[in-house]
Amino acid sequence: MTATSEYRSTSWWRTASPPPPTAPLNADLSVDVAVIGAGMTGLTAAWHLARQGARVAVLEAEAIGSGASGVNAGFVVPNFAKVDPAAVLARLGKERGKRLLALIGAGADRVFATVRDQAIDCDAEQVGWMQVAHTDAMLAILRRRAEDWQALGRPVRMLSADEARRRTSLRFCAGALLDASGGMLHPLSYVRGLARIAIGAGAVVFEKAGVQSIERKGAGWRLGVDRHSVEADKVLLCTNAAEYGIARQLSRSVVPLPVYQLATKPLPHGVAERIAPGRHPIADTRANLFTYRLDRDNRLISGGVAMVPLGAHERMARMITRRLMRELGLVEMPALDHVWRGTAAMTTDFLPHLYELGPGFIGGIGCNGRGIALTAMLGEVLAQAASGARLDELPIPLAKARPIPFHLLARAAPSVAIAQAKWQDHLSIRGHS
Ligand SMILES: Cc1cc2nc3c(=O)[nH]c(=O)nc-3n(C[C@H](O)[C@H](O)[C@H](O)COP(=O)(O)OP(=O)(O)OC[C@H]3O[C@@H](n4cnc5c(N)ncnc54)[C@H](O)[C@@H]3O)c2cc1C
Repeated sequence: MTATSEYRSTSWWRTASPPPPTAPLNADLSVDVAVIGAGMTGLTAAWHLARQGARVAVLEAEAIGSGASGVNAGFVVPNFAKVDPAAVLARLGKERGKRLLALIGAGADRVFATVRDQAIDCDAEQVGWMQVAHTDAMLAILRRRAEDWQALGRPVRMLSADEARRRTSLRFCAGALLDASGGMLHPLSYVRGLARIAIGAGAVVFEKAGVQSIERKGAGWRLGVDRHSVEADKVLLCTNAAEYGIARQLSRSVVPLPVYQLATKPLPHGVAERIAPGRHPIADTRANLFTYRLDRDNRLISGGVAMVPLGAHERMARMITRRLMRELGLVEMPALDHVWRGTAAMTTDFLPHLYELGPGFIGGIGCNGRGIALTAMLGEVLAQAASGARLDELPIPLAKARPIPFHLLARAAPSVAIAQAKWQDHLSIRGHS
């Protein structure tokens, strides 16, 4: 078991389109490319490779979408949560920075185009993603952010405080950024749809096929999967934050961030209409981020990070519900449908990366909390890497797969960061009012 998510306890699980049928791995196998992990990244890569005629096997330890891909909140956001375009250019240089930004900026359009062109049934709504400034100081930062994305040709604009208030009922609203290419979808239906199109293109997906070991075999690799082996010329490791078997080669380079998600029972029509008349998925600018969206049945979906992870389930349910009531001015406490937890993977510089783990053995992580749009591009870049492209010429930067020093201690970082974030928000709101 990968034990990174609680996908069966989500409201997504009950409302998703059915998964495509898969066969068990009951014999040894030889393929061109083995993709480890059937989340959005692995299945996107497998789809591109299979379309180009490669023999591809996807090996999934649990079930399609059982990692972050099946439990996330379904916000499709084509930018970085923690890094502005100017910082990307400063870090990577103008040429490489611009290539990465162009790739990331196009991510949401790519997701919705794939959904449309491949007829993926996943409640996709490209209604635009809104980021609401909670103070005037943050509004100034959003303005610069919007200008940077506009300069890159993205459909991003600012909304005045009045205009933003008409589209949300957030308590603190100094104005907002609207990216028209963003939106939302049903994450489990989307990842199952990616599996269906990858299989349709010729890839074979095996569930309950956790990869425990990898060793060099000639010019390629031999993977150990229970009693069987899979030989492959190239291997893509798309296991995100998971720590099962071979996944540790990737997860030790990231900080795991446990994120709680909550879905209420469907809201009365009038309430849904008041808090999201344009159905935009919304995030604010607080350090302890506040987010909300509606699903197709008007369940309200929000989330948060626990300061003390121990026994956090019920505490987080109470905390997130109270926050929803306070921030959105809800008169009645919405009835809970489900609360669940997933693990996001944070890189130390908050950027996506490729990792060369051996010749033709490549890993990729891009999550940092905003992975749906990004995995559409990361999956394609990984497919290019497996097709022989030079890694240092690809738009996603190559990093060394180095264990984070004091990895055990680093796990405590999110708890410290969230405490600090709450204090910072308190001060910024006090200074604003
Ligand atoms: C609670 C939560 C909310 C989020 N909300 C959003 C959001 O609203 N918008 C957004 O853009 N992003 C969001 N994210 C991030 C987003 O979900 C991820 O970036 C994205 O799903 C990563 O996809 P992936 O395919 O790389 O990894 P995963 O979906 O985690 O897939 C990895 C797969 O590898 C499998 N695996 C692990 N080890 C092995 C092994 N040894 N052998 C075989 N298989 C293995 C796992 O079972 C899993 O299925 C959220 C994340 C979390 C946790």
